[in-house]
Amino acid sequence: MSAGALRHTFKRPLRSGSAEMPIVEGVRIVDEVETLPKEVRIFDTTLRDGEQTPGISFTKEQKLAIARQLAKLGVASIEAGFPAVSKGEFEAVKEIAGEGLGPEIVALARSNKHDIDRALDAGVDAIHVFIAASDIHLKYKLRMSREEALRRAVEAVEYAKSHGITVEFSPEDATRADLQYLYQMVKAVAEAGADRIDIPDTVGVMTPTRMKYLIKYILPAAQGKIVSVHCHNDFGLAVANSIAGIEAGAKQAHVTVNGIGERAGNAALEEVVAALEFLLNVRTGVNTKLLYETSVLVSEITGIPIPPNKPIVGANAFSHESGIHVHGVISNPFTYEPIRPEMVGQKRRIVLGKHSGRHGVEYALKTLGYPTEPDIVLKVLDEVKRLGDQGVRVDEDKLREIVEKILEERELTAS
Ligand SMILES: [Zn+2]
Repeated sequence: MSAGALRHTFKRPLRSGSAEMPIVEGVRIVDEVETLPKEVRIFDTTLRDGEQTPGISFTKEQKLAIARQLAKLGVASIEAGFPAVSKGEFEAVKEIAGEGLGPEIVALARSNKHDIDRALDAGVDAIHVFIAASDIHLKYKLRMSREEALRRAVEAVEYAKSHGITVEFSPEDATRADLQYLYQMVKAVAEAGADRIDIPDTVGVMTPTRMKYLIKYILPAAQGKIVSVHCHNDFGLAVANSIAGIEAGAKQAHVTVNGIGERAGNAALEEVVAALEFLLNVRTGVNTKLLYETSVLVSEITGIPIPPNKPIVGANAFSHESGIHVHGVISNPFTYEPIRPEMVGQKRRIVLGKHSGRHGVEYALKTLGYPTEPDIVLKVLDEVKRLGDQGVRVDEDKLREIVEKILEERELTAS
């Protein structure tokens, strides 16, 4: 293939001014995806779907603290809760809506007047109306025919819209619904005035290829309204499926901080945002430098620890132990890091252990303000490896202890 033919496959002009501009060091924008939007709305549902994590129930104060952080982070929408479920939930949603935080405040409602009225009374900016679309949900949960569900969906959207409020509609379990019926439902609610249509992968059964196909299939039914994705992580594909949906033309993603949510959780906000911003050059409005502190806040409030190997916000996401990697990262961080840790509010950590080498020890000693003469470095390295073989982790305190002892011994032999 000639260079000309190769260039011809890049269907859209490059956006970033320079054709060679990398987002992530070494990665060029191929940009062959012509349906990729320039901007994506981040619809955070930590306070609604995230709260459906088994064992999690936020107090009003906790909800407010998370909502304030999400506003600072810069998400487009905060789904604050489901006002019809309890008095406390109603009060919390009402209070968040009254704070004037900036992002659109959304409340969830089933497709009935009572739920929509409760959401309206809470004073939110938008209502997220839903009804099941799959036969399994219609038959075993709602005991309702397809025709009945379709009628209720349209009535609910029309009723909410008659109050002049922004309406987002979700055909629940969309990814297991009959495709033609799903198309019919999306078209009907779009015509009834829904402002956005969300496609939930309620039990997380999609794959990226299927998600792309589904979003492309459903886009014409939405008639120009924003199409959103809402992916669950049952097979660990929530983030990949969200990105695939966006590549196919979805302009909004439902996410939760740390990916909390029912069962295996939802697509993680920090991962979806980082992939969009740094891998695809898509703007999200999120201040990525606040991703880490947001993750820590939600982890502290929920009591759910951040797994060390979690992308973007995990303790190991920018940690290096192997001698080869540490040497590389010290001379140029991009040798073994895709992005700078500061871009997501993280820190690089050099961990000492049995895989460590001279450079790692030298770097760690320098960071702590200790001398780095070769004999000290080698003695510390020997001790680090000896402890590593015994399974002992050398953290900062342990390193101080080791080096202080070596320096003390050196002084004794010198005097
Ligand atoms: Zn969900």
